[in-house]
Order: sequence, then C-alpha cells, then structure tokens
Amino acid sequence: MTLNQVSQQNIRDFCIIAHVDHGKSTLADRLLEITHTIDKRHLKEQFLDSMDLEREKGITIKLKSVRMYYKLPFQTIQQNQARKHKEDFQKTQAVLAESTNLQTYQLNLIDTPGHVDFSYEVSRSLAACEGAILVVDVTQGIQAQTISNIYKALDADLKIIPVLNKVDLPGAEIEKTAEDLCRTFGFNSEDILKVSAKTGEGVEDLLREIIKRIPAPQGDTSPAATPRALIYDTFYDDFLGVVASIKVVDGTFSSHNPQIKFLATKAVSTFQEIGIFTPLRKKLDRLITGEVGYIATGLKDIHAVRVGDTITPANAQNVELLPGYKEVKPFVFVSIFPIDNDKYPELREALEKLSLSDSSLSFEPEASNALGFGFRCGFLGLLHAEIIQERLEREYELELISTIPTVEYKIDKTDGSQVSVKAASDFPDTTQIKEIQEPWIKLNLVAPSEYVGSIITLCDKRRGVMLKMDYPTENRVVFEYELPLAELVYNFFDDLKTLSSGFASLDYDFSRYKKVNAVKLNVLVHGEEIEPLSHIVLKDKAEDFGRELLKKLKGVIPRQQFQVALQAAIGGKVLAREDIPAMRKNVLAKMSGGHRERKDKLLEIQKKGKQRMKRLGKVDIPQEAFRQVLSA
Ligand code: GDP
Ligand code: MG
Repeated sequence: MTLNQVSQQNIRDFCIIAHVDHGKSTLADRLLEITHTIDKRHLKEQFLDSMDLEREKGITIKLKSVRMYYKLPFQTIQQNQARKHKEDFQKTQAVLAESTNLQTYQLNLIDTPGHVDFSYEVSRSLAACEGAILVVDVTQGIQAQTISNIYKALDADLKIIPVLNKVDLPGAEIEKTAEDLCRTFGFNSEDILKVSAKTGEGVEDLLREIIKRIPAPQGDTSPAATPRALIYDTFYDDFLGVVASIKVVDGTFSSHNPQIKFLATKAVSTFQEIGIFTPLRKKLDRLITGEVGYIATGLKDIHAVRVGDTITPANAQNVELLPGYKEVKPFVFVSIFPIDNDKYPELREALEKLSLSDSSLSFEPEASNALGFGFRCGFLGLLHAEIIQERLEREYELELISTIPTVEYKIDKTDGSQVSVKAASDFPDTTQIKEIQEPWIKLNLVAPSEYVGSIITLCDKRRGVMLKMDYPTENRVVFEYELPLAELVYNFFDDLKTLSSGFASLDYDFSRYKKVNAVKLNVLVHGEEIEPLSHIVLKDKAEDFGRELLKKLKGVIPRQQFQVALQAAIGGKVLAREDIPAMRKNVLAKMSGGHRERKDKLLEIQKKGKQRMKRLGKVDIPQEAFRQVLSA
C-alpha cells in the first residue's frame, strides 16, 4: 500500500482549537515535524501561519489545512493489541498479521485562529472534522475562547482531546489547570494530556491518542454511494480560479469524473484539479470518503462557490444537502474608499476575492459626497476590520481611506417607516426620528478573581448589565454581561487588557436591540461639515465626546497656510471648538537642540501621514484622523 492509499478507517480528521496564543500553531509545527511532513530544516516557527500579516502580528488569521502521514510504531500496536487480548496471545498475533496496513495513518489537520473576530474560521473547520485538540496554556488557564471553542466542538459532536501546553515553563500550573478543566467541563483527569509544543515533550503520545480516540470518518464508501463533499473554505487562485477546500463526506471524487455541481448555488462545472494540502497544493487522482483536500472548480465566478455548500457529481439525482453553516452577521461596519477614485473597480475585485477566502466579510457599494465611490463593509470585529484593510492595501496594492467603525442602528421614523443605519452619513435628521435602537451583545468575560472589582467598574462605565457572576474555581471568575455593542467597539478590549495585565479575555454574541438616546455629532473643518468624521454618539455624552475628539483631531490634522477652525456640532448647534494655527515655515525649527531621533521620528510620521490624506473641502485630512475618533 502506498501512502496515498490509506483505507477509510485509518483516516483521522481533526483540528486544533484554543484561545489565542495558547500554542496551536506551535503544536502544529511539532506534528509536521514528527510526521516528517516538513523537513526540519525548512520548518520555521508557526509554519502554517504563512501570510505576511500573520507572521508580523504573531496571530493566525486563516484556518490552514495540512495532510500528514504517521506510521504507528509496530511496538505500540503490539502493546495495544497485547493489552486488549492479554489472555489470548494467538488472537493478538492474528490481529497483528491481519493489520499490517493498519500501521499507516492519514492525518488531516486544520489549524485555526484563536481570536474572537475569527471564530467563523473555527466553526467551519469543526464541520470538516471528527475530533478537536483543545489546547490550554498552563500559564494562562481556561480563557474565554477556550470555553466558546469547547461548546462549538461539542455542538458539532466532535471528540475533544484536552491538552495542557507549555508544561516546560516555570510558571506552569499543570495540576490546577487540569482540575479546572475537569471541574468546569467534566473531563477525566487521566484523559488530559500534557505537552510542550515548544520542546516536543509529550507530542508523540498525543499523536497516538489522536489515532486512538478520534473516530475515523463515517461516510458511505460503498460503490453505490453518491459522492458528496462539504465546502469548508474557498479561495481564489489566479490560474485555477475558485478553489474549494473540501471534505469528502461520501463516496469518491476522481479526476476521471470531473463534472460536478453545487447544490445550493446550482452552479455546474468541470473541475480542473483535485488534491490535498501538504500544506502547499498537491494534485492527486482522487479523494476518497473522509479525506480532506481541495477541488479547483474551474469557475471564475466567485458567486458560484459558497462555503457550506455541497458538491456532487453533475448527474447525481435527489442528493441531500449537507448541513452547512449558519450565516454570520457582521457586527461593525466601516466604509472603505480608494484615495484615487479611479481605483474603484480594483477595490471591488479585491473585495470579491478576499471575501472568498474570508466568508465572514460582507460589502455593498456606497457613494459618498466627500469620498466618492467605495464600499460599506461588514466585519466581525475591529481586528477583523483592521486586518482586511491591511490585506487590501498589501495584497492588492490599494491606497484606502476608511470611516469610523459603527454598529447597525434601527431607527423608527416619524412617518412610520424603519431604516437601518450602518453609517453616520445615513443618520436621519433629528426631526424625523421617533425612536432609535442599538444592538446589545451577550458578553462572556473570564479573568483571574483579583480583577473582579476593576472589571465590574469597567462594565458599569460601559453601560453593561451584569447577568451572572461565577467562580468555577476560587481563582477564576466568569461574568456574563449584557452590553451595548457600540461600547465594545470603543477600545473595550484595550481597557480590559490594561486593567487585567492581559489576563482577562472575552467572547460575545448578538443579544437584542434596545432603545437608545443617540445623536449624530458633526465635525466641521474650516466651516465645512466633514461627513466621514461625523459619528453617532449618546446624547448625554455628545458634548464631552466632541471636546475630546477635537483635541485629538487637532493633533493629527496638519497645519495649513491659514488658521483652521475645528467644530463639533449637533445639527446647527456648535458644542465645541478648537483652532489649528497657520503653518510655520519649518516644522523642525522650534525643536532646536532636539534629539536627532525625535526629528527623524517627526519626519517619519509626517511622511507616513502624507501617504494617506484625502482633501476634504479645503483641508487635507489624514487617515489617522478617523482612527482618533475611536480613541476619543
Ligand atoms: P496560537 O495563537 O495558539 O497559534 O499560539 P502560537 O503557536 O502562535 O504560540 C504563541 C506563543 O507561545 C509563541 O510565542 C510560542 O513560541 C509560544 N509557545 C507555544 N507553545 C509553547 C510551549 O510549549 N512552551 C513555551 N515555552 N512556549 C510555547
Ligand atoms: Mg496560531
């Protein structure tokens, strides 16, 4: 038997899930190494984080699939079998003789992101697996994404293997974390593995446990079975067009039979290629039941291929659609415009391609008086928004300007109609508004108990309503809050991180819409309303917010030849004002004797700022101005 031909019962499809930074990608490195999938010489740290952005930020953004093979050492089989039939040596031998091909296992691994903004990547990965390795960092313990990932894996009916990682570190609280896992989720302590993804300690044992505990895929292998495959991811390749990452649920897909159809979108195509991720694409002849790999669909139309859809042969009849995924709803909206208006078609194409590899991204065209043609994009969170903008700029070489992130308001108007508002520019005139509703979320917070007081203070300040407070163990507290999403958008993460020295974590989901007394705060620069800087704020806070905002704007809007007035107003009523004095000849002049470094830095900042300016009215507004609104 060659490596490519492993029978279904020797296939294991699993993913690695954990809170961010608990060591998923590093554990994947060790698995790649032990299975000789990647030569040790080529194995850089967090190998599967192949995107530049992932490497720079040190986080996983995309799910990543890879096929590995593992030969179970003969001795291990022997020992296992011997243990099973201790009393019957002959039976053991018979089993062994029959099962030489039982030694090689095909392991299909999916590494996932751990940040709440990328949780849709996790959900999709789970659907392609029978098991999940749950990694918990023993210096951090159970955190918010640990909990939400466990529930996701249980919902998907997956076998979970709990793994304590970083046991090599001095601060490792191995027993305490194990106890916490048992108490909170009902794991048995003898089922919890202890590894160091860094040193490799315990990882080979983990591999064997994966084979032992995670069931083989259960699809229909019979020749009569109608082949079905689930699309769990998609991406665009310039040569191949739309490529679908798939798990073959039933039957076999073969390059001899390349006519396929997509049950939900009803598209048909002749696929160009079928294969696996090693993690690079490797072409094969076929994929059998339970195998994970890809189909290069041959389609160029991105709308024809959707994650969650089912692929079958084009001539198959009465095929049942696989369960697929629930659609994700964006939480925050940002309008994105090319600085150069001629680049609008390029921006559209880039967004279409990106949305293929990130199905949680949504967008619709938008026209702005000030910024021209662009797109209103929906994101799962601020990090998501930031990452997508960076990818657009880097991977598609676009220069962009984007508005302030906002949540979706529902507004009842006096004429009886209801509008949904995802940008301040759509906010109706105050006289037309009967009632405004804003989205609230259910927020789960996990933290060491010493931070209870400061977390409660923070949530109070952010209009949070506590629903529950629990101590699963004496040193860990779990909160459930209901909180306006808009409050989370404004630096909640940062504040929480600061007050808890990074030890508190959160997870959230949409809860419901609730009434709010909000107004649109306008910003006027040199007497002209700058629509993209306007923002929806609480009425009570509008004045303070406006004052604070102008101070920040003053710091980032470059001086002009003339004095520039900044004003914050609601309707026609000005609430605050700041003036930017006219430009001096030389920005460095007043820094006489200043350190060289500081001057360099100033020039650097100016240079960077220049790269992203948009002339609005008579004044150049840098992108940084929009960011400042968030921190006001
Ligand atoms: P992920 O976000 O879950 O994928 O986590 P990474 O694999 O990116 O690891 C996060 C950080 O923890 C990196 O700096 C790793 O080098 C480090 N790390 C991961 N596993 C171990 C371990 O077993 N021991 C130690 N000391 N550090 C580890
Ligand atoms: Mg990672």
